[in-house]
Amino acid sequence: MYDVNKVRTDFPILSVEAHPGVPLVYLDSAASSQKPAAVIDAMNAYYRGYNANVHRGIHRLSEDATNAYEGARQRISKFINSPDPCQVIFVRNATEAFNLVAYSWGRTNISAGDEILLTEMEHHANLVPWQLLAEETGATLRFVPFLEDGTLDLSDLSNLLNERTKLFSFTAVSNVFGTINPAKQLIEAAREVGAVTMVDAAQAVPHMPVDVQELDPDFLAFSSHKMCGPTGIGVLYGGRDLLEEMPPFMGGGDMIRRVTLEGSTWNDLPWKFEAGTPSIAEVIGLGAAVDYLSQLGMDQVLEHEQFITNYALEALSEVKGLKVIGPAPSQKGGVAAFTLEGAHPHDIAELLDESGIAVRAGHHCAMPLHHKLGLTATARASFYIHTTTEEVDKLVQGLNRVRQVFRL
Ligand code: PMP
Repeated sequence: MYDVNKVRTDFPILSVEAHPGVPLVYLDSAASSQKPAAVIDAMNAYYRGYNANVHRGIHRLSEDATNAYEGARQRISKFINSPDPCQVIFVRNATEAFNLVAYSWGRTNISAGDEILLTEMEHHANLVPWQLLAEETGATLRFVPFLEDGTLDLSDLSNLLNERTKLFSFTAVSNVFGTINPAKQLIEAAREVGAVTMVDAAQAVPHMPVDVQELDPDFLAFSSHKMCGPTGIGVLYGGRDLLEEMPPFMGGGDMIRRVTLEGSTWNDLPWKFEAGTPSIAEVIGLGAAVDYLSQLGMDQVLEHEQFITNYALEALSEVKGLKVIGPAPSQKGGVAAFTLEGAHPHDIAELLDESGIAVRAGHHCAMPLHHKLGLTATARASFYIHTTTEEVDKLVQGLNRVRQVFRL
């Protein structure tokens, strides 16, 4: 039985007050999650007990640091069921994973006349790198549209995916609508025309079981800071053959096998893509985050979030003038982006903050999505493993207070 109150005791920050005498209600995990003590302690233990550079030193501290760093990679690899840890490349965040693929794979495989297929609901991280690539190569970007309910319109997919499509990159879960897209079906359709696939799993890996062998994308990206881990670290998973063929993204120490003044040869995977001293403490922190989530069980995590999202959507439907954008709860992850007639999202967020409730307001790095809806911004509450029904009730009370303040 999932015990949310026990989970809450794992997060030191949840007993911090938002303002003097006002408890914190943290409903912004989709932007960045809070960290359990296990993650903070693991990073502390590294800095206090065995801080040293990895892969280089022969001394004890360096060996311990290397073992912890590579051990974390193995557990992270297992967490997404990667066939081999060498297919788990450490990057700064999901954004860097897209840029790495656009730069390294894109600049060797994309040319004028080729098509890159995205969707209209993408985060800027899965849009701007491809815009840069298209500008440089003369390739064309095409988009799978979304319907009014925030689900993808797949009626024209057989035309959008064609022999010119070299890459189909899409989000598994929308950070605004919460839509859980049919990732497996989309990957299979792309493979039929020989297109390479990339999945934005930034809002999936933290919230549900993700098995890369079952899903079978060519590339998949996620960020540590949204899954109980620290900032400054993320993962690019890739198919082994593709990664082997790709040229390095950045040059420098660690990514080489042999260097002469005339030229260099490259290290094996995954280090070929990890130039310079890596984010050691952060990788160890992400390893601890993966242990923490595994011990909760990702099936339980998903179940709790579905329960709380259902509860929240029901409760929010009682707030007059409020409209949640996105699909029905059965197709939705733990985010509720909404508008409240007569109140600007930034004012909503500011007034909620007075009650200790943290939500996000803005375009959530999805400007084209908002533009299509005729909106410049929405307010977004997002739920995670520690969210309770009492917190959702406080959100509803806070929103009713916003209505009173604005005399709506
Ligand atoms: N994709 C999605 C769906 C996201 O929600 C985010 C973070 N908001 C990103 C990509 C980018 O993540 P990061 O900023 O950690 O690179």
